[in-house]
Amino acid sequence: MTDQDTPLYAPREPIFPRRVTGWFRTFKWWIMAVTLGIYYLTPWIRWDRGPNLPDQAVLVDLANRRFYFFWIEIWPHEFYFVAGLLIMAGLGLFLFTSALGRVWCGYTCPQTVWTDLFILVERWIEGDRNARIRLHRQEMDGRKIRLRATKYLVWLLIAIATGGAWVFYFTDAPQLAVDLVTFDAHPVAYATIGILTATTFIFGGFMREQVCIYMCPWPRIQGAMMDSDTLTVGYRDWRGEPRGKHRKGARAAATAQAATAYAVPEEDLPEGPDHGRPISTHGGTAEVQPLGDCIDCMACVNVCPMGIDIRDGQQMECITCALCIDACDDVMAKIGKPRGLIDYLALSDEPRERAGNAPRPIWHHVLRPRTILYTAIYALIGIGLVVALFVRQPIDMTVSPVRNPTYVTLSDGSVRNIYDVRLRNMAGEDKPFHLSLVSDEILRIDLEGTAERNVVVPANETLLQRVYVTARAQDPAAEMDRVEFRFWVEDLTSQDRAFVDTVFNGRGTE
Ligand code: SF4
Ligand code: SF4
Repeated sequence: MTDQDTPLYAPREPIFPRRVTGWFRTFKWWIMAVTLGIYYLTPWIRWDRGPNLPDQAVLVDLANRRFYFFWIEIWPHEFYFVAGLLIMAGLGLFLFTSALGRVWCGYTCPQTVWTDLFILVERWIEGDRNARIRLHRQEMDGRKIRLRATKYLVWLLIAIATGGAWVFYFTDAPQLAVDLVTFDAHPVAYATIGILTATTFIFGGFMREQVCIYMCPWPRIQGAMMDSDTLTVGYRDWRGEPRGKHRKGARAAATAQAATAYAVPEEDLPEGPDHGRPISTHGGTAEVQPLGDCIDCMACVNVCPMGIDIRDGQQMECITCALCIDACDDVMAKIGKPRGLIDYLALSDEPRERAGNAPRPIWHHVLRPRTILYTAIYALIGIGLVVALFVRQPIDMTVSPVRNPTYVTLSDGSVRNIYDVRLRNMAGEDKPFHLSLVSDEILRIDLEGTAERNVVVPANETLLQRVYVTARAQDPAAEMDRVEFRFWVEDLTSQDRAFVDTVFNGRGTE
């Protein structure tokens, strides 16, 4: 076939990962249980904040523009907390990728977690790899229809639960659950659940590895964070090659040769056809070429959710889920060889290992300038956010000068500037706020709608108050270009204070 004959689109080859057990698989089960548990259960955790506030521990209250996270309440003007957390999340991703490759992809990415869950369901219903391959290839019959329908139904229930859980983060979960089943919920809630149900069902059930390979930009970006010291899943080809199947008869001869012998119990050797690997016999006398540790059993390939052969070297498709490590370690245990033919490896160790030396310790790869720098920035931002959280005041204000016109000359010759002041009461009870100003020049402050300089701001609300600042005709500020001054707001019950610096414009502005 010439290049011109090569089709632009190749249909997906379905992958049927085999069940595997081992340390990494167990670790992945735990990660799956924890991440799914957090996702599904968090909206149902209650948190008492007082009479005027929602009692949902984690809530994105879009209507009132608030984010609640247990005892923390983030207001729109405090968006820097969210920005800081996003930066920390990005840095965390950089840190783990530079140290351990694509661990995010292999263990915690939602696409990985839900695909793993969908494969688990598929295995429960249709059987392990070989049974699923047979089912895939056979003609449609009653049994196949029943198995497929059952699988799709369970997938659909998981997908609906996934889409449903998402909307619970945006409003009171118990109330929304009632509204959803009584069809009283907002259409946006149903639309969101529908979209997320469809994407979960399609991405986890059918597209699977294609999302990682073709849709996600992260595999392309991650290379910038990795270097030769990054620990990532690899194959020790210097130990495994030449690969070949071991036969019992030939194995006995092999063990007799010091160059190739391993202390392997004869009964532990796997049986199976010799696929023409470099073991040969002539006239009944075994002539054995040295074999590597890889017995070419394909266990590592058969468990791979991405359908790749790690023995071909590092590949973009590899999500470093480490399931091939478990599979190969299991094989090595059965044939009595040391674990780690496939393992977390650093490229910088390869020359040492090829020369017969042990790899350097893990800390040598993990602790290096790049990871230390990421950790330091991560810690600095984290400390900054924690400090900001504890020193923030429960009251706040923003000031917007009304500059159209810049100033107004009153009938008595005095000059007035107008300001829109937003007062925020972040406490759970109504608060009396007192407004004042401090300036080097003589300025007077008045509040629209009241002769007082006090206003009551309702609990957890923002009050927009128009404020007039006036310089009398005889005072210097009336003729000046600009006078800097400071607005103060004070909570009369707690004496908490906040200020904003702004400017008064006199007739000298022209
Ligand atoms: S080769 Fe496959 S099984 Fe091995 S770590 Fe990569 S994605 Fe996982
Ligand atoms: S699981 Fe290990 S022994 Fe089997 S083919 Fe893979 S690398 Fe070779």
